[in-house]
Order: sequence, then C-alpha cells, then structure tokens
Amino acid sequence: MDKNITWHDTEIKREHRQEVLGHKSVLLWLTGLSGSGKSTIATALQKKLLAEGKIVYVLDGDNIRHGLNQDLGFSEEHREENIRRIGEVAKLFVEAGVITISSFISPYKKDREKVREKLGKDFIEIFVKCNLEECEKRDPKGLYKKARAGEIKDFTGVSHPYEEPEKPEIVVDTGNLSVGSSVELIHNYLKKQKII
Ligand code: ADP
Repeated sequence: MDKNITWHDTEIKREHRQEVLGHKSVLLWLTGLSGSGKSTIATALQKKLLAEGKIVYVLDGDNIRHGLNQDLGFSEEHREENIRRIGEVAKLFVEAGVITISSFISPYKKDREKVREKLGKDFIEIFVKCNLEECEKRDPKGLYKKARAGEIKDFTGVSHPYEEPEKPEIVVDTGNLSVGSSVELIHNYLKKQKII
C-alpha cells in the first residue's frame, strides 16, 4: 500500500447509522452448491426484510462477476481473489449499516475463513445444505447438464471440490425445508441475536 495513504476515520460512527435505521448490520454469508437455493433464499429474505422497513442488499455471484470481478475466472487463484474482493465490498456495506446477504458458492473453507477474520462477529455463515443429487435434479440454470457434457470445466460438485462449513452459524437444509421455512429460520436467528 502507498505509504502516503492514511485511513480517514469519519466522525459518523456505525452506531449512529444503527440508531437512524433501527437495526444492526451483519453479513449473511450464504454458501452451498449451485442449485442449493442461495439466490432463492437471498431474494426472499431481502423482500421480507425490506417489507419490514429494513435496509438490505444482496451481493450476487453473477452480478459481481459481470462488473467488479469481470477479470476473474474459476481457477483456485481467481476464486480466492473473487471471494477476497467480495469480502472487502461486503465489509463496506456492513459499515454503512446495511444488512448484507451474499450469495456465492464460495467452495473453499480457507477463503470463507478469511472473510470471517475480516468481518469478525459481523460474519454469519449460513450453509445452504442440499445434496448434489438433488441440486443436479433441480438444475435451475441448466449448468449441471452443461458441466456433465464437458461444456463447463471446473464446475463445483462435478469437476471441482466443495468444502462444507464445519461450524456455520446456521444450517438451512433446503432438501427438506420449503423456501418459506428456510427464510423464517434465518429471520428468527436475526431476531434472537437482536440484530433486527
Ligand atoms: P443457487 O443460487 O444456490 O445456485 P437457486 O436459488 O438458483 O440456487 O436455485 C435453487 C432451486 O431450488 C430453485 O429452483 C428453488 O425453487 C428450489 N428450492 C427448493 N426448496 C428450496 C428451499 N428450501 N430454499 C431455496 N430454494 C429451494
């Protein structure tokens, strides 16, 4: 980093924003296989929180890859950098008082742990759990079909590993829960922790 750059500590503190907004801000980090339900849950949870007057934003894999991370591919190195940048952006959103929901496969434990280290207690890891067979059956974007046909290489679950979280704050078993119950589970957690 340039030695002439110093961190500018603004006078407005996060607590001031929380007071105005009426809720705390955290990063809800959804991780899971493609098709496990991350985007569906993120969208539905965002809708519910917005309807309650809360400030919420979804950082989504495809959106970020179209803009900020358009220079990155799917190698291990690029996946690591992808998650690092998302972690930095999410931290800014949380500082700004926004309940931030991130929806990325984020297959590597060490990359997720780095985001946890950066965000500390503001990081809430949510394992969107669904077995490969069911995800492949759902195949909402037709990606598994393409991966099996060899049209996509390095596809998580098929030709690339996925490392399950060891101690996530929340496990949402979408193989057995409805979308509504999945959202309710996370919403209840937020209430219990007095975040909302
Ligand atoms: P991802 O973002 O993880 O790739 P998507 O949200 O795009 O997954 O797709 C998940 C699919 O699974 C959707 O078609 C959704 O309707 C379905 N689904 C079934 N049960 C659930 C659940 N409990 N939570 C989320 N999605 C579910």
